[in-house]
Amino acid sequence: MTKVQLKDCLDRLLQKSQALAQKGEIPVAAMLILEDGSVFLDGNAVEEKDDPFQHAEIRVLRQAMAKTHGRYLKGAVLLVSLEPCLLCMGAILKAGIKDLYYVLDDEELGALSHYHAFVDDVLRIHRIQDDRFLPIMKAFFSSIRNREKKPSL
Ligand SMILES: [Zn+2]
Repeated sequence: MTKVQLKDCLDRLLQKSQALAQKGEIPVAAMLILEDGSVFLDGNAVEEKDDPFQHAEIRVLRQAMAKTHGRYLKGAVLLVSLEPCLLCMGAILKAGIKDLYYVLDDEELGALSHYHAFVDDVLRIHRIQDDRFLPIMKAFFSSIRNREKKPSL
C-alpha cells in the first residue's frame, strides 16, 4: 500500500469513526480491501444492533464474504482504527487476511500487544488431553477430501 492509498484509507476511517461517535457508537471503523479492489467500510454497531459482537472488523468481513460467497478472503488487507480484540483477531485469522493495519492500541482488550496480559487477567486456559476428539476431526476432513476427489455427476 502506498502512502497516498494509506492516507486515503485513514481519512475514510476517520470520517466513519467520527460519524459513529456522533451516533453514540464506540467509534471503531474498519476498512477491508480485497485483492480485486473491492472496498468495504463499516463500523461498530454494538449499540445500534444491541449486539456485543457487532464489531467493525466482523461486520466488514461478513459483508465481503457475502459478496464473494466465500469463507476466506485470502490476500485481503484490513485497516482498523483500534487494535482488534480477541474476537476479531480470531475472525481475522480465520478469514485469511494478509495485512492488518491499526491505529490505536487497545490497552484494555487488544489482542496484539496485550494478549497475554489480557488472558492472564481474566481467563485461565486449560489444555485438556482427550484422545477421542482427534479421530473424529481426522475422519471428518478425510471424508471431505474423498468427496472432493470424486467426480460430480
Ligand atoms: Zn473486536
